Amino acid sequence: TSYGFRQVTDGEKQGLVNDVFHKVAKRYDIMNDVMSAGMHRVWKDAMVAALNPRKDAGYKTLDVAGGTGDIAFRIVEASDRKAHVTVLDINGSMLAVGAERAAKRKLSENLDFVEANAESLPFEANSFDAYTIAFGIRNVPHIDVALKEAYRVLKRGGRLLVLEFSEVEMPLLERFYDEWSFKAIPRFGKMITGEAEPYQYLVESIRKFPNQENFAAMIRNAGFSRVTYTNYTGGIAALHSGWKL
Ligand code: SAM
Repeated sequence: TSYGFRQVTDGEKQGLVNDVFHKVAKRYDIMNDVMSAGMHRVWKDAMVAALNPRKDAGYKTLDVAGGTGDIAFRIVEASDRKAHVTVLDINGSMLAVGAERAAKRKLSENLDFVEANAESLPFEANSFDAYTIAFGIRNVPHIDVALKEAYRVLKRGGRLLVLEFSEVEMPLLERFYDEWSFKAIPRFGKMITGEAEPYQYLVESIRKFPNQENFAAMIRNAGFSRVTYTNYTGGIAALHSGWKL
């Protein structure tokens, strides 16, 4: 099926993505619940359970495209508030909402917030025990560059976890999902923020993202070992895992 979207260049792509998240930052958390029918919470819990962070103050995670902090907060809680998470995002509006939420939850001591690009991380090599990115990597124009950066900043023995929308592997679910994403999501987007086009772009970006096997191959190409993935909800989302060995 062709949905009639025009092609966007890499520069335009980052611009569109930035537009969307500046506009929605304050309403982002509600939008997530509406658009995923609450499922994103279950998938994020599963991601952090898979990470199983060490319960010690020396355990450091970099949560890239961390937005309003959903993954970071879960990691800190799962470590009994011991571990440290650096939340990195290209968008200051998303981070500002994250920092405010962190303060309300009294989690600020375990967190810091860094405005930067996933393609060029402002950290030394071998700095982190874990690198997480949830629903972020498909927005990055050069995924291969971001993955190489992930590899660089991880310590030996460090873990990469990527949660992202993926290829639905059940035909019936796929039909429902198409209706949902191409019709309902832009409509909700318009209701909540007044504009549909940015959401059409986001939905389209999900379809362009490589499927489970192809994305696993990209992770291996960046140098990671023991690359595996787990489908969630019939492949609507998938969690990819790799190790820097
Ligand atoms: N991880 C959060 C979550 O799961 O709720 C936020 C995900 S949100 C869908 C995607 C985030 O990716 C946005 O906050 C956006 O600003 C960020 N982003 C987009 N391009 C980026 C880039 N090149 N580098 C870092 N972050 C980026």
